[in-house]
Amino acid sequence: MTFLEIEDSDKKSWTFFGLKADYTFMDNKKKILIIEDEPGIADSLEYVLKTESFDTIWVQTGNEGLSIVGEKQCDFVILDIGLPDINGFEVLKQIRHASDLPVLCLTARVEEIDRILGLELGADDYVSKPFSPREVSARIKAIMRRGSSNTKTGDCPFIIDTNKRQITYFGQKLQLSRYEFDILSLLANRPGWIFNRQKIMDLVWLEPDESFDRTVDAHIKMLRAKLKAVRPDIDPIETHRGIGYSLKEGL
Ligand code: CA
Repeated sequence: MTFLEIEDSDKKSWTFFGLKADYTFMDNKKKILIIEDEPGIADSLEYVLKTESFDTIWVQTGNEGLSIVGEKQCDFVILDIGLPDINGFEVLKQIRHASDLPVLCLTARVEEIDRILGLELGADDYVSKPFSPREVSARIKAIMRRGSSNTKTGDCPFIIDTNKRQITYFGQKLQLSRYEFDILSLLANRPGWIFNRQKIMDLVWLEPDESFDRTVDAHIKMLRAKLKAVRPDIDPIETHRGIGYSLKEGL
């Protein structure tokens, strides 16, 4: 008899000097689903994530990925936009429809970035190819930290109902214009992220305006007034001089 025997991984037990023990605690690792058709990229991601104590599942098609998401077998999704069977945007949409799993997108095309972060799709973050797997792992950890400290129903004062296009702030429904709603959703979905005026214009307006600086500033000013009417002691929108705006972290 060897002193330690892993009996059967399905039974989740091991034998230590003949004593049987349960090892379900070993399953506490976060499981990351990698949806990526290029084996070279998937291999290097799996290698790095495993050394960082994550579990990984790798699939090469969007359909396989969606069935794993549907069976709730993962805690996080890395999603390549260029997949052989379904477009990554469609996969993202369906994941968002079925769950609130965090999603990090991989993209080879700069022009896809705006759509990835766009309001209706809402990936949590993206990295552009080529990337270092360590960078991906750092982003995943940042998203997980953000997720655990700032849940939408917990401490965060904003509740966003995208179907009704309604935002509640400290329990009070805000009366917002179309643009105000979209700007506040954009900022509130990613606390701490700084969006410059051009980016806000590109993501919110259907026909971006030439005078975007003044237009965006005017809407931010209105938003601040409406937020202040609810809580005069807090200004949740931060101005970064010469850069843009963000929503304060840890509100
Ligand atoms: Ca690909």
